[in-house]
Amino acid sequence: MANYEQLGVKPIINAAGTFTKFSGSLMDEEVLDAMKEASKQFVDVNELLEATGDYLANLLEVDSALVTSGAAAGMAQTTAACMAGSDPHAIRSLPDTEGLNDEVVVMRSHRNPYDQAMSGVGANFVEVGNAIETFQWELDAAISEDTAAVAYFVQSSMLEASLTLEEVLEVAHSNEIPVICDAAAEIPPANNLSKFAHQGADIVLFSGGKELRGPQSSGLVIGRSDIIETARLHGPPKHNIGRPMKIDKETVMGLVRAVELYLEEDHQARMDQWKDQVSKVVNGLEDLDGVSVKSGYPAQPFCQPATIPRVYLKFDENVTDLNREQVKELLMEGEPPIATETYNDSLVINPHMLQKGEEETVIRRLKEIVIK
Ligand SMILES: *Cc1c(COP(=O)(O)O)cnc(C)c1O
Repeated sequence: MANYEQLGVKPIINAAGTFTKFSGSLMDEEVLDAMKEASKQFVDVNELLEATGDYLANLLEVDSALVTSGAAAGMAQTTAACMAGSDPHAIRSLPDTEGLNDEVVVMRSHRNPYDQAMSGVGANFVEVGNAIETFQWELDAAISEDTAAVAYFVQSSMLEASLTLEEVLEVAHSNEIPVICDAAAEIPPANNLSKFAHQGADIVLFSGGKELRGPQSSGLVIGRSDIIETARLHGPPKHNIGRPMKIDKETVMGLVRAVELYLEEDHQARMDQWKDQVSKVVNGLEDLDGVSVKSGYPAQPFCQPATIPRVYLKFDENVTDLNREQVKELLMEGEPPIATETYNDSLVINPHMLQKGEEETVIRRLKEIVIK
């Protein structure tokens, strides 16, 4: 039987975070059990998506919910819904948007590599603001009769150039335009799961395969029932632009179980574990020559979630003969491979996906690399 070892695929220690390229997160046994249970019988997938959506909406105390094959799939399907609605001809025409309202207004400071999920289904971005500031009147002026939605990427709200979600909702809603809010990696804190919807965001997207620790190819859409009902028409198993974003019954039921478990989880205990791992790494490395070690929280967007502490390591090249990029590479090439990220002049250790005790291996490997 082929397994990772036989294939020569080396399991890694993940000190980087819930990156898709490092396979997201690890599922609990209970999630795997739910998937296995789901695999034993046939179901009508449309019925399953509706029933699980109702169940999750109830659990999260939101209007409506839909399980998709990822936050990006949710972004694509809800954007398609906002542009083409429920007209069968328009649904089949996407990504050709001729005759449809196909503009998505977005702050320049919010543009990011995930937003192709929106342009890919035919949306045209109308950008407002600049790298320094954005005003509500700019957003207001950019909304026209061609506007389908306003996009809001929660992590970009860390930038000073960004309007707050409240400010965006105020302008969008006064123009009767929905706001699609990408919060894929914005938990923890756990209460963010319903917070943005309760603030009035029309659609909010989360990854199932990051902090929720559901199947990696799952996503959660919550929000306004009319938009979600329409989004169902644009998603699998129906034949439409969302068809390649197919989702299986096992993944759907795995995500449902993951959300149930997440709501019951002791979030403080996990936070305490991350803090403990961070302080162990700091203590374990602070005496190393040529290395400065400190802990802290990310202050920049696209380093998520910002609520989890990190270790920042700086290397004095005169002493260590290595810079942060070289250390990152050596960690990844070593035994076992350890995935990390760099930011500015630092190597960053993120405890989010470190399993208990793995911080000791991280400390050992860093010492082996730096002490020669
Ligand atoms: C991870 C991520 C996505 C994509 O989520 P998937 O569930 O992998 O599709 C979208 N937006 C942001 C900001 C993300 O971090």
